[in-house]
Amino acid sequence: MNQLSHQIQLLRRPSGLPTQDDFSLQAVPLPPLQEGEVLVANQWLSVDPYMRGRMSEVKSYVPPFALNAPLEGGAIGTVQASRHPDFAVGDRVSSMQGWRDTFIAKPAQLTRLPATDLPPQRFLGALGMPGMTAWAGLHKVAQLQAGETVLVSAASGAVGTMVVQLAKRAGARVIGSTGSADKVAYLKTLGADAVINYKETPDLDAELARLAPDGIQVYFENVGGALLEAALNHMALHGRIVLCGLIEQYNSQGGASGPRNLSQIIRKRILLQGLLVSDHWQHYGDFLAEAIPAFEAGALQSEETVYEGLASMPQAFIGLFEGRNTGKMLVKLG
Ligand code: NDP
Repeated sequence: MNQLSHQIQLLRRPSGLPTQDDFSLQAVPLPPLQEGEVLVANQWLSVDPYMRGRMSEVKSYVPPFALNAPLEGGAIGTVQASRHPDFAVGDRVSSMQGWRDTFIAKPAQLTRLPATDLPPQRFLGALGMPGMTAWAGLHKVAQLQAGETVLVSAASGAVGTMVVQLAKRAGARVIGSTGSADKVAYLKTLGADAVINYKETPDLDAELARLAPDGIQVYFENVGGALLEAALNHMALHGRIVLCGLIEQYNSQGGASGPRNLSQIIRKRILLQGLLVSDHWQHYGDFLAEAIPAFEAGALQSEETVYEGLASMPQAFIGLFEGRNTGKMLVKLG
């Protein structure tokens, strides 16, 4: 009897905030392992906001997910059986074959994790794509300088927590924005100089005037909406905005509302640049060379929110839009 792969498939394209009914859990028989192939069992599945974009029909920088097929995403697993000389049973690998417990892969679909005793799942978060996004945005796009003031939205998430810490390491003053009192307290432990709870701050404009009286040099934008409009009013002359994400709009059905004060970009000669982490992947080794030793020495911290079991994957995904995670959102299998 063939081994079964349990996998979450997209049943229909979500309208607005996804619901459990948009997904189905299927058991699909795997074919026999062929020469040159590897059987992998996943232990950690990555849960990321960008997946929402791929659930829609709209063409973007990556094609939409197919219906009634396993969803894709970052994953860390272990080789269970191998018919390839480069992979042995027990090898730890990362892949884009998430949303499922087991899969068969060719070596080109697998990446070995760097040698370190740090927890493997960190390579889905602070040491993986989200951490690299923070590093590339600050250093390659914004060209952050010591002494500058950085504002970051969704500061308590996977990207945001790394933005806060990497900006502090670079000698910046950091203001974060997040959605709960617990997250405000957590960000202060990471070294944030000031934190806004945007849900409890009716006048964001006045709050930024108070917290950044000399202006914001770098705005690392993960959310969009009201904070973007307020931040534009408080950017410094020649400030830089890294447009990394607009999560506030990902489930929006009524069309996005743009900031009404784009004239600030002209007045202050602001540079606003979109960031796509994949454009910077050639620098991933540089990022790891800085970040792995810093984590090993305890100079960088990371937090995870972990849901248990493959069936919880849709709930963990929906939780991203409800602010249920601090740090990296993950699902643990097995
Ligand atoms: P996070 O870990 O930050 O999780 C999402 C967080 O966003 C939630 O915890 C919540 O925190 C906040 N949030 C959700 N909905 C809203 C809303 N309507 N208004 C305000 N805040 C909201 O996710 P990631 O770190 O993985 O991603 C952060 C951003 O970076 C996303 O926009 C993502 O798309 C983008 N990204 C872009 C990449 C690129 O290459 N351009 C690569 C990776 C990520 P809170 O409690 O604070 O509300």
